[in-house]
Amino acid sequence: MFSVNEHYLDIKQSYIFTEIAARVRKFSEEHPDKKVIRMGIGDVTLPLAKTVVEALVKASQEMGVKETFHGYGPEQGYDFLRERISEYYASMGVTLQDGEVFVSDGAKSDVANITDLFGNDNVVLICDPVYPVYVDTNRMLGRTIKFLQGDESNGFLPMPPSFHGDIIYLCSPNNPTGAVYDRAQLKAWVDYAKAEGAIILFDAAYESFIEDPSLPRSIFEIDGAKDCAIEFCSLSKTAGFTGTRCGYTVVPKGIEVTAKNGKTLNLNAMWMRRQTTKFNGVPYIIQRGAEAVFTPEGLKEIRENIQYYKQNAKILADCFTELGIPFTGGINSPYIWLKCPDGMDSWAFFDLLLNGAAVVGTPGAGFGDAGEGYFRLTAFSDRENTLEAVERIKALLKK
Ligand code: PLP
Repeated sequence: MFSVNEHYLDIKQSYIFTEIAARVRKFSEEHPDKKVIRMGIGDVTLPLAKTVVEALVKASQEMGVKETFHGYGPEQGYDFLRERISEYYASMGVTLQDGEVFVSDGAKSDVANITDLFGNDNVVLICDPVYPVYVDTNRMLGRTIKFLQGDESNGFLPMPPSFHGDIIYLCSPNNPTGAVYDRAQLKAWVDYAKAEGAIILFDAAYESFIEDPSLPRSIFEIDGAKDCAIEFCSLSKTAGFTGTRCGYTVVPKGIEVTAKNGKTLNLNAMWMRRQTTKFNGVPYIIQRGAEAVFTPEGLKEIRENIQYYKQNAKILADCFTELGIPFTGGINSPYIWLKCPDGMDSWAFFDLLLNGAAVVGTPGAGFGDAGEGYFRLTAFSDRENTLEAVERIKALLKK
């Protein structure tokens, strides 16, 4: 019999969204008259921007004409999009060299696939609670993970530990807590990485929700980060591409490691080699749609959508402020991370909200052990539902 990767035994069953769906189904069967408001899954609700749709249609038409048809494209993405992404970074004050941007089918794939570049003997530092993909992809490889606990004492922003780590996952704005690292905190992480000879894997999937100019949207805004960090970003939440699929990863050209045989390996060259071997690029049509996001008109349209979600976040934040329930997020992030009242565990609070208000959120336990006792609500609903959810939550929880 063939053998399998038995590290899969070490991954927790991803039951959370199945369990949520089962509980919601049961509730709806028992209360067919009640409208359930879903604020659990982090998917967007607003459609693609007009400029993006026009670009997708135009590119689709090009594909039907011999002269403008596109077959296989460059694995790392077309220059027309890579250049727009570099300009977007320039608008944040970050200068990227040619060849540092790689276009992908979304941040999840790249965050997972980047594990290919690193040895299994690395000590991996992962904040808890956090987006579960970092944990599961490293568990699949049997790597040693050390968790850095986020809690109210550190504002859910773990700082460098007193022990050694080799690979550091940071997510800012964080999913699920909505907490955002400031410049001084990220500088401390960059200094730690350089001192320890570590690499930071920085997930900036929610950077476009940051409006406060004092907060960094890219790790590369921090001095020295280009020597020790890779950044992942996504158009999923920025521009409603959850179903369209496009993201990008920045791998600086200057990060090099000496192999055991004395040869030098360059991370940018390794990622290029990895992508050209295992990936055949994002569809031309999608890349044209993504390019349209970065035009002045596209940016204006997506910013209006982000403002719409941010207003939802504010409505949620105001509700919990009024109720006196502590929370993080909701300002530079689409997520509200609240403390379950009365010491409830996160599934008990899920049931309370579902049965008492027909509102669905995500139990914090789904994001790591440190998420127990907390709960995530998202701002990605429509306005009407957000307002209604808030009224129902207030009626249920007001003392
Ligand atoms: N990173 C974080 C922190 C996320 O929350 C998500 C999606 O929810 C992703 C990455 C994945 O994004 P994409 O849709 O680009 O794969």
